Amino acid sequence: MADWSRRRFLQLAGLSGAASLNGCAGIVSKSNSKAHVVVVGGGFGGAIAAKTLRQLDAGIKVTLIEPKASYITCPGSNWLFAGLTNIKNLSVDYRALSADYGINLVSDSVTRVDAERRRVMVAGGEAIAYDRLVMAPGIDFRWDTLPGYGEASAQIFPHAWQAGPQTLLLQQQIQAMNDGGVVVISVPAEPYRCPPGPYERASMIAWWLKQHKPKSKIIILDAKRSFSKQKLFEAGWAKHFGCGTANSLIEWQSIADNPLVGLDAQTGTLTTDFGDKIRGQVLNIIPPQQAGRIARESGLTDASGWCPVEPQSGRSKFHETIHVIGDAAHYAPIPKSAFAANSEAKACALAVVALLNGRPLPEVHWLNTCYSLITPRHGISVAGVYKLDAERNIGMVKGAGGVSRLGDEQAAILEAGYAGGAYLSLVRDSFG
Ligand SMILES: Cc1cc2nc3c(=O)[nH]c(=O)nc-3n(C[C@H](O)[C@H](O)[C@H](O)COP(=O)(O)OP(=O)(O)OC[C@H]3O[C@@H](n4cnc5c(N)ncnc54)[C@H](O)[C@@H]3O)c2cc1C
Repeated sequence: MADWSRRRFLQLAGLSGAASLNGCAGIVSKSNSKAHVVVVGGGFGGAIAAKTLRQLDAGIKVTLIEPKASYITCPGSNWLFAGLTNIKNLSVDYRALSADYGINLVSDSVTRVDAERRRVMVAGGEAIAYDRLVMAPGIDFRWDTLPGYGEASAQIFPHAWQAGPQTLLLQQQIQAMNDGGVVVISVPAEPYRCPPGPYERASMIAWWLKQHKPKSKIIILDAKRSFSKQKLFEAGWAKHFGCGTANSLIEWQSIADNPLVGLDAQTGTLTTDFGDKIRGQVLNIIPPQQAGRIARESGLTDASGWCPVEPQSGRSKFHETIHVIGDAAHYAPIPKSAFAANSEAKACALAVVALLNGRPLPEVHWLNTCYSLITPRHGISVAGVYKLDAERNIGMVKGAGGVSRLGDEQAAILEAGYAGGAYLSLVRDSFG
């Protein structure tokens, strides 16, 4: 990416929240409507949507429904495999959202959405009425895609694609493995959350293995033919992990033409369509994904398993008063990331406030950036700016965003530092 466009992107990214609010000063108000907006899911999308709604219009009552008292961030969770962080550092709670922004917190799960009567039911039995509903339930896995693998076997072959106990299980398995063992990471076809995540994970595991179990190997079985930031990852793997030599710690294989057809859980062996057998001491199987269950059961998904939305407002294509943001929603070509969920949430909050106050929808841009660590001192990034095109579909703004420059060692060191800073500022913006 040209220097000017990276700088421009970073300016935009740094200002994303403020720019949205300042740019729409016309709709910032304390309305008298006493409207009630309910937000389902307190992940990166739901938390910032709730906070932004309150920042934009303190007249709106906002209720955030989330079952977990503590949310463990997926961003940063790959760093745990290299020993750079721990679960405590990755955990956030909702106290600031409640105390500083006046958000009404309900610690429960939504079990049903009654779109006709505009209310949600929670597991505790309460019915909560809303004027507008913002759904941000994240992802669920498609457990039926690999014979032999299911929800129960994820306790033996962890996906670690929802951070928490699964992340720790995978870490324990890697630490318990013999030197000379094989870690297999299977990567689904897109769309899935965090496109570069599997390759950062391989890098972080390789970094740890290199120091503790250097005879070991990581095999990535990829349902795709290519992947995000591929040239940068491969250059980093060549530099640090012997990629391209007989002793490479990481081996990437596309299995797009030879997909996985089964898992033998007894032996930890994966079989491909052509009958190849791949055995690993540790199998990190990342299954294909779909929108979180409550979105599917509420009739918000289409045949793809994701929620189609009218992008400018995040309004569901199936329910006029329901908005969907974050990983559960279909905002392609914007990738499914926490940064993107943040941007979608802000755009959605602006739209909700406009709709509640009878004002036209504001024009918005969406931003995404994703840093990945190859080693603790080698970072890379991808960034993109998006806006509606002439057909009102989301398109990428040409000349804005891009990827890190290949072979720029100084920049790689700086980007490793930016990765930590970007993580902290995203967490603070969303939950602080
Ligand atoms: C290993 C890994 C690394 C990643 N790294 C990055 C990164 O570096 N940068 C980045 O931008 N993104 C990263 N991501 C992606 C990021 O984690 C997701 O895109 C982001 O969490 C999406 O936010 P969300 O709010 O849509 O969903 P989530 O964060 O999953 O939040 C959904 C919330 O909804 C709640 N919920 C679900 N159902 C209900 C219900 N019925 N009632 C009430 N609440 C409910 C859940 O408890 C959960 O808290 C990474 C992902 C992974 C797996």
